Amino acid sequence: MPAQYVIIGNGVAGTTAAETLRKADAQCRIVLIDDEPYPLYNRVALPNVLKGRTLPERAIIRQIPWHAENRIELLLETTVTRVDTDAKIVTTADGKDFAYDKLLIASGGRPNPLRAPGADGVRGIYSFQTLDDTKALIARAERSKTAVTVGGSFIAYELTEGFRHRNLEVHWLVRGPRFLHRITDEDGGALVDLLAREVGVQTHYGETLAEVRAEDGEVTGVTTQSGMQLDCQMIGAGLGLTLRTEFLRNTPVKVNVGVVTNEYLETNVPDVYAAGDVAEFYDPYIGTHNQMGTWNNASSHGRTAATNMLGQQRIAYTEVPYYTSTMFESQMAAIGSTPDVRPDMETLSRVDMNARVYRRLFFYEGRLAGAVLIGDIRVRRQLMDVIKAREVIPVDERQKLVAV
Ligand SMILES: Cc1cc2nc3c(=O)[nH]c(=O)nc-3n(C[C@H](O)[C@H](O)[C@H](O)COP(=O)(O)OP(=O)(O)OC[C@H]3O[C@@H](n4cnc5c(N)ncnc54)[C@H](O)[C@@H]3O)c2cc1C
Repeated sequence: MPAQYVIIGNGVAGTTAAETLRKADAQCRIVLIDDEPYPLYNRVALPNVLKGRTLPERAIIRQIPWHAENRIELLLETTVTRVDTDAKIVTTADGKDFAYDKLLIASGGRPNPLRAPGADGVRGIYSFQTLDDTKALIARAERSKTAVTVGGSFIAYELTEGFRHRNLEVHWLVRGPRFLHRITDEDGGALVDLLAREVGVQTHYGETLAEVRAEDGEVTGVTTQSGMQLDCQMIGAGLGLTLRTEFLRNTPVKVNVGVVTNEYLETNVPDVYAAGDVAEFYDPYIGTHNQMGTWNNASSHGRTAATNMLGQQRIAYTEVPYYTSTMFESQMAAIGSTPDVRPDMETLSRVDMNARVYRRLFFYEGRLAGAVLIGDIRVRRQLMDVIKAREVIPVDERQKLVAV
């Protein structure tokens, strides 16, 4: 009998896994289930879609016929509601059952909603996770003058930059003392602030929303915790993701923040694997479990998990993930593991405000484990090689690595 594989989620983790399975096994049955209406699209391209630099349809990177050509049964707008790991069956909301020999959970995360008095049911408040979110953001931005963005990490930044690019007046509310406060220090925060202000963003730290004001169900403004009144026609929220594991509720699959796996991306239940954003995988670089929200982490996970599902070899995931992004008129990269996962890491940083360059390195047990770069990010590859080499780095060598 040909093997039967079911994959929950057709993001880059799930689709890469399907592709890997098909390349290695011409006979197997592959069922790829997703609740969104699109085949794989590039989420990393969504900020460019928001800015109007890329058309929404250009973000789609696997067309529907590709799935038929590769005999991947793609079910769109179909939600998985239940998994039975004893009977090895996945059930969807429309009552269909899919038997599996091996199951991959690649279900990503859902944006945390903005919770503030007055926000419930009001039009004009957006998350930024899907192609449909992006289309809705663009439609609203086209008839808005001012936007408020909320959140201190990458998605809030992308919203801020996207709105500013569209010439909206933007107020960026960051609850912490600076952007990415768990991985940058004061110097890094000051540089991001400078870059934001240089393109006209109005930044506000230590601020959250106290209230959303609305008229006729449409956002008209916000009141912040310190009492600031800002008029706006839209709010963009980047408040993190809740990983999507709800369909595992009645199973023995171990779930913490995400689906817990070992370095082979195997869960505690035989024949069930996890990959991508949803996987809380064992990370050998820092000797603990880790969860990443980056494109290349998700695609490498998909490949590794599929290889292990095929059963001919068992390979550990040892890639060094990285995230690169614009940072207003500059650039930014986050590489490897950062102290938000392991607060006991040693850090070393340098800034040159005139040159707009910042580098912060993270060491674990004397080895380089991660880095944040702003401005000049060309050193990224070199640092990734150093991380991979897993060698203890003497103090004077560390100074050379951090020199900007
Ligand atoms: C705006 C934006 C910008 C980004 N920029 C960058 C960047 O510059 N660099 C970078 O490295 N990363 C970036 N990322 C993050 C990166 O895109 C993600 O880490 C990556 O796409 C995750 O892929 P995934 O396959 O794990 O999950 P996803 O792409 O989230 O796919 C999971 C899919 O599973 C579906 N699903 C979930 N539950 C169910 C269910 N019960 N039934 C059926 N389907 C289900 C979901 O709807 C979703 O389509 C960005 C993300 C966003 C949103």
